[in-house]
Amino acid sequence: MKPLAHRPGYRHQFSIGANDLAIGDGAFLVIAGPCSVENAGFVDIAAAVADAGASMLRGGAWKPRTSPNSFQGLGADALEILVAARTRTELPFVTEVLDPRHVAEAAAVADVLQVGARNMANAVLLREVGRNGVPVLLKRGFGSTVDELVRAAEYLLAEGTEDVILVERGIRTFEDSTRFTLDISAVPVLRSRTHLPIIVDPSHAAGHAAFVSDLARAAAAVGADGIMVEVHDDPASAISDAEQTLDVPAFRALVESLDPILAAVGKRRSVAGATAGTGA
Ligand code: PEP
Ligand code: MN
Repeated sequence: MKPLAHRPGYRHQFSIGANDLAIGDGAFLVIAGPCSVENAGFVDIAAAVADAGASMLRGGAWKPRTSPNSFQGLGADALEILVAARTRTELPFVTEVLDPRHVAEAAAVADVLQVGARNMANAVLLREVGRNGVPVLLKRGFGSTVDELVRAAEYLLAEGTEDVILVERGIRTFEDSTRFTLDISAVPVLRSRTHLPIIVDPSHAAGHAAFVSDLARAAAAVGADGIMVEVHDDPASAISDAEQTLDVPAFRALVESLDPILAAVGKRRSVAGATAGTGA
């Protein structure tokens, strides 16, 4: 069978949500928000993140925590809060699904469904997600090769979902000064192996807020099609991933610093409602 995720000479660009947010082929997506939807206060955080320059919101409804004793997310209740945040900000949102039984209800409201690193190779979940036709953000497993990520994407494409975004989010190495090691090489390597847009998550890679902005700028410089960053109005109080979460002023400064880098590599920040080519 021909590799579904590789159409040589073609780069996939598509739009997300009701306001046609562009990604790929020059349109750079800035996805931001807290790790988890913790309570209804998410809507105010979303408004602050939107004002600081996000193109799209993130927030986990179901959380894949390392320990079963940690906060597991608000589940379906979080979907309502995410919808309220979208109404307030007019930005689309992505949220992760862990369980095939939750896919239909999440797909009914979410603009993009996320399959996380821990589930990248879960063929049952990939098939269920792929059947809904909603765009998918697929994160690289931290013990998976680039090739395995591309093959995982093919499960989604085989079910008929064409709009897939690949995410480099750090891999496990011997280096323990960061939470994972950001494999920046994965971006150009993936570009040579697939037509799908590629974004970088510097937050989960770094594990420390102090390193996140530098890695995000590296992602823009290396030719990524976007970033996904954890941001909270009070990172110290975040229930999950507090140490790697940027506050809103730091996020605003990061976004402003991206624009000259994007201009240098021939890209523009994607803004919902902007027609292709006008960008930020
Ligand atoms: C996340 O983005 O919320 C997340 C859990 O990331 P990862 O799957 O990359 O660990
Ligand atoms: Mn997180």
